Amino acid sequence: MIDIGANLLHSQFDSDRDAVIERAHAAGVARMLLTATDLSTSTAAIEFCTRRNDIRCTAGVHPHVAKEVESGWISRLSELATSPLVKAVGEMGLDYNRNFTTPEQQQTVFHSQLDIAEQIRKPVFVHDREASADVLAALTSHGRLTGVVVHCFTGDEKELDDYLSAGFHIGITGWVCDQRRGQPLRDIVTRVPLSKLLIETDAPYLLPHNVPANELTTGNKRRNEPAMLKYVVRQLAQLYGTEEAEIITATSRNAREFFNWK
Ligand SMILES: [Zn+2]
Repeated sequence: MIDIGANLLHSQFDSDRDAVIERAHAAGVARMLLTATDLSTSTAAIEFCTRRNDIRCTAGVHPHVAKEVESGWISRLSELATSPLVKAVGEMGLDYNRNFTTPEQQQTVFHSQLDIAEQIRKPVFVHDREASADVLAALTSHGRLTGVVVHCFTGDEKELDDYLSAGFHIGITGWVCDQRRGQPLRDIVTRVPLSKLLIETDAPYLLPHNVPANELTTGNKRRNEPAMLKYVVRQLAQLYGTEEAEIITATSRNAREFFNWK
């Protein structure tokens, strides 16, 4: 399995990061993509991936912190993103749920990152929360993107169909395991063809609801980690009516191709 979205540098992993990675491998997660959210985590992520084969990263600015960019950030990010350890530009996008940064500034920072991705020919790792019309407009206005994944998709049927029509990949997290708030997603997720499906934990967030209590690591009982990716796979296999092996084969192949991670 390949976890395409893990916030491995989050402080919740500070005390046992190596053990978390070992548990992921033991659970069949061969590779993880470490998601960066600003220039300093992008720098730290690249450093973390150095001398490793199992972990690669993104470099980018999350919409929550778009207001914090400093002058010169575009050239600095371009430079970071050209590292061979960086497999996508992001996470980037729009989040109108919280609006920690004004929508206008979020859009400015989003478009600048889309320009960078086009220039350096790397795919984009996109965050959309209650902003799909503007996210779609921004993405389709950049015609030279090499690939788009909308990560942690939680939108509705029309939003999903619009993204799929545009040829984008869709990242599914443990949100799909939640029988209450995840039900709308459970009802539509199989519209995603297996050729466009990617899986992620978004650890330490979004612990899948189908994880048995005895599997939870001691300490923080709500913390998610990449080893739990198998529960996303299990849920998807049930919803698609197929074997877990087929979900794993398809999503691993998609991730290797999409991120050019051979
Ligand atoms: Zn996100």
